Amino acid sequence: MKRIKKAFTGLKSLAVGLGVTGRAFYAKNVTVIYPKEEVDNLASYRGHVELVGKEDAPDVPKCVACGSCAKACPSNAFTILCPVPPKEGEAASDPPVMGPAPQRGAKTPSKFILDFSLCSLCGQCVKTCPTKGLRFSNDPYLVSFTREDLKLDLLARLHSQAANSQPVPVPDTESVDK
Ligand code: SF4
Ligand code: SF4
Repeated sequence: MKRIKKAFTGLKSLAVGLGVTGRAFYAKNVTVIYPKEEVDNLASYRGHVELVGKEDAPDVPKCVACGSCAKACPSNAFTILCPVPPKEGEAASDPPVMGPAPQRGAKTPSKFILDFSLCSLCGQCVKTCPTKGLRFSNDPYLVSFTREDLKLDLLARLHSQAANSQPVPVPDTESVDK
């Protein structure tokens, strides 16, 4: 009797296991086989941060080179450079000497580099920016063999996006954790 009970329990367990396997086998896939397929639900995806262009001039950043994002970044991932104004009585050098933002008189950055290898995607920079000049990109395919490749020139990226008129979905910046 004990053996029959044991066999019945084993069979029941087998049936339950096969049921789970069968349901998983016929369930709709939740992943895609990249690169044959790509996902299209990236509206809320948090890729590396990128500059936002002005509505009436997409290749001009909203950024006013205040340096707040660089200051707020816990990973020191930004290098934002602007021309250093000459001291009183000195002539302006050509090319101008560059220094970290903010610099007196500079209303826009001359260089805006993000070292994505340092970034933890914490969102402090997006939250801090007073002009809503930063957002998360929706590029999930950024891969590299070297850290150097992850130093992203965000100004060049913005210019390239504007030139190619790539559709850049407006992200939900309100969803950044407060
Ligand atoms: S906080 Fe915004 S405006 Fe200030 S430097 Fe960063 S991106 Fe530019
Ligand atoms: S998301 Fe966080 S770690 Fe990444 S650049 Fe912005 S502030 Fe720095």
